[in-house]
Parts: sequence; structure tokens; C-alpha cells
Amino acid sequence: MKKSTQWFRHFIAQSCRFSFLFLLSFPVLSVALYAQNSKPVFTVIPLGVKGGGDESNLSSYLVAPAGDSNFICLDAGTVRAGIQYAIKKGIFKATPDYVLQNSIRAYFISHPHLDHLAGLVINSPDDNSKPIYGLSFCLSTLADKYFSWKSWANFTDRGESPQLKKYTLQEMTIGDFYKIDKTSMQVAAFPLSHSTPQESTAFLVKHDDGYLLYLGDTGADSIEKSTRLSDLWKTVGPLVASKQLKAVFIEVSFSNDQKTEQLFGHLTPDLLMKELTRLADFSGGNAFLKHLPVVITHQKPGGDRERKIKAELHRANTSGVRLIFPEQASPIQL
Ligand SMILES: [Zn+2]
Ligand SMILES: [Zn+2]
Repeated sequence: MKKSTQWFRHFIAQSCRFSFLFLLSFPVLSVALYAQNSKPVFTVIPLGVKGGGDESNLSSYLVAPAGDSNFICLDAGTVRAGIQYAIKKGIFKATPDYVLQNSIRAYFISHPHLDHLAGLVINSPDDNSKPIYGLSFCLSTLADKYFSWKSWANFTDRGESPQLKKYTLQEMTIGDFYKIDKTSMQVAAFPLSHSTPQESTAFLVKHDDGYLLYLGDTGADSIEKSTRLSDLWKTVGPLVASKQLKAVFIEVSFSNDQKTEQLFGHLTPDLLMKELTRLADFSGGNAFLKHLPVVITHQKPGGDRERKIKAELHRANTSGVRLIFPEQASPIQL
């Protein structure tokens, strides 16, 4: 595997492998193309979008190259309920078990909080063999605390015996791209800070020369006393400048009135916009962020918080990014 400093060179000529065998004739409800007249590179089907409050709708995003039916699943808070809703809406024409087993080719877990992996654990008896990718801290917790025979049967190839080996835990090295079996995508992982000492992960997904960035839960650098977001912006800045980055999926858990000591490693609208200013610095300026799709994930329900978050984001959106508020089982073309 190449180191992060070399990854630009490495993956330019990737042949894509489309699979139309599986039906995916869905209505596209939310279309957001970064550049006018450019064809979408990715299809995202959110299986769950919230950061709490509803166990049937927690962070989980299926991502595939546009027109392809081989998905990866970025976080897996909710799996089956999202698939069932997608089937109901005509997005998948198959049974939930078929979609679970044959459409999800790999999982990527940003961090081991339950709202990001409960769906994976609960559905594991009905799933089939596939890899679970993540950074070391995350996979260790998955093996030691969840697939431990005390919490749940050990379907992995690590930890307590007997290991049922349905899931292979694929530990990622920071910044290296991994080619994902049965898909035409590659994914690299970058560390995030999520209320120290809790860590989290950002996944950079690549198909041909297009990219999609998904961040798990993250605090702002200013509050986390960290440079991890800044380091990430520095890495993806050139991809924004060249318009190869098709979208950023990032959390805004709370509205601006959340007290700093109660953020617990999350972002508010103001903190996100400050971070996007840093991204602009590494992308050649604000103009390069104009129309960049920014998908707002992980809002924590409560009172009228979600309405406030939306209003505050629109008010503070001086760089003119295209704000997208994902909905469960509503495909997004990027
Ligand atoms: Zn979370
Ligand atoms: Zn979390």
C-alpha cells in the first residue's frame, strides 16, 4: 500500500466495473450535481441519517458508483429499517435479506459508538461474508466489546474463540487507499477527534477520478485542541480545487446554542462554517467551495433543534456551498 503522500499518483487509471444485473431503477428524489452538465459519479442511498432519538434512522450511507449496484456501507447505525424503506419506495426490487447480503459489499465504521454500528451487529446473523474496514481503535472495540460472545456471537475473525469468521476485520493504515472487492471503489481513512480520548474516522471514497468524503462524528479543531480536521482539509483541498471532490458528508449534531462543554465532540452550524473556511484556505479560496455539495449528517433530534440547525446553516453559508439535508431512503446523486 502506498503512503498518503503518494496516493494522488497511484489511482488515476482505475477501470470501472459496472454491474447492472441487480435492478436499481429508482426515482432520484434529491439530485445535486456539483458542476452543471456533469454526469453523477456516485449514488448515495441513506439508510439512516440521524444522530440519535430514533433507532430506525441512525447514521448509515450506502455508496456506489452511479449506475452500479455494488455498494459500500459507511457507518451502520441503522441497516434493515433503511433497506425496508428503500424497498417500499421501489429503490431495491428484492427482499431485505437479498439486499443486505448482495448489495452491501463492505462496511466502513467510523468509530465504535452504538449509533454507528448497531444495525451491523443486530443483522449479522442474516448477513453473508464480507469485510469490515476501519482504523485500529475501532476494530479493536468491535472485536473486544461487541462480537465478544458476551455481548453477541463472534462473527469476526478476531478476538474470543470460536471465531465464526463471517466478517474479516480489515485494519486500515491512515491515508492508504484500499481497493474494495466486488466494487470499483477505493477507500482511504483519516483520523478525527471526537471528544478526546474518543477517536473517529473520515473515509475518502474514490471511483475513477471522482471522490466523496464522509466524516464520522467529529469535534472542531478549536475545541478538540486538535489539528485533525485541518490536516484532512489540507489533504482534500487540492481535490476541491480540481472539482474532483463531489461531496462532503459531515455532521452537525447541535444548534449554535449548545454550550461548549456539552458538545461532546460534535459540531454546530457555526463550527462547521468555520471549518469550511479552513477547507477554502487549502482549496484556493472561497470561490472553489461554491456549489460544493455538503451533506449534513447526524442531527440529534430534540425540540425544534433540526429546524434551528437548518436555519443557522443557511444563514452562515457565506461560501455558498450546496447544503443537502439527507433523508432516509432518498437517493442522492453526486
Ligand atoms: Zn454518533
Ligand atoms: Zn460518536
